[in-house]
Amino acid sequence: MSVQPLVVIVMAMEAEAAPLRAALGAAPAEPPVWASSLPARVAIADHAGVDVVLVTNGTDPRTGVDCIGSTAAALATQVALDHARSGLARQPDLVLTVGTAGGWNRAGASIGDVYLAWDRFVCHDRRIDLPGFDAFGRADLPAADLRAHAEALGCRLGIVTTGDSLDESPEDAARIVASGAEVKEMEAAAVAWIGSLHDVPVGAVKAITDLVDSPVTTAEQFSANLATAADALQRTTLALLARLGEEIGADV
Ligand code: SAH
Repeated sequence: MSVQPLVVIVMAMEAEAAPLRAALGAAPAEPPVWASSLPARVAIADHAGVDVVLVTNGTDPRTGVDCIGSTAAALATQVALDHARSGLARQPDLVLTVGTAGGWNRAGASIGDVYLAWDRFVCHDRRIDLPGFDAFGRADLPAADLRAHAEALGCRLGIVTTGDSLDESPEDAARIVASGAEVKEMEAAAVAWIGSLHDVPVGAVKAITDLVDSPVTTAEQFSANLATAADALQRTTLALLARLGEEIGADV
């Protein structure tokens, strides 16, 4: 009996995830017992020959907003991997960190562009000037090779850089220029770290809501473009899943 490929999708904000969850027709699933008091929400779907576990970071009970950022993303990734392994008795073929991001005019990005991560995930706000810890702080984790899909889907490719702030401090800016990153967001490197601990490849689908080097504030651009970006994310992710179904399915 052939087994369908299994892809875990990790998303931070409900507004980003809602269109994709609806398009997938994903059904809510119980998180593992150990995670029952965590905010992460799990849903499962079957799309174009691919089994999907969709996890969102969930709502912070104290402040009532989405748990954006790296801590909740790491936790949500662990919850989804455990759901796959214990609940479905499967090792996922791929984890995708899917969400909105900032880009740069200087790198040729436009609002609504969709990037796939290549060739790595880095962190720009973990400055630890101690031997060994500096490299740990930079993360520098490999991205799954989705280059062939990027071309077919009309996506750009770029290094994704993660930090826990929406704005860009001067220190962040210098480190981002040095790393060559073209996509700035708040979760991907944390998802990639958990994936690396479990030997599961991690890729990213990131839609540009704001241009960091624009005179308009990031927050203003983000709010204006969130719905458009969420729609682009949903369309690209569905098309990518269908292509992965053919590619990974043929290898199983
Ligand atoms: N004020 C917004 C919160 C948006 S935070 C609200 O409450 O609706 C930004 C989210 O989008 C994070 O999950 C992050 O991954 C992503 N993001 C988009 N643009 C970003 C940028 N320029 N820098 C960092 N994260 C960004």
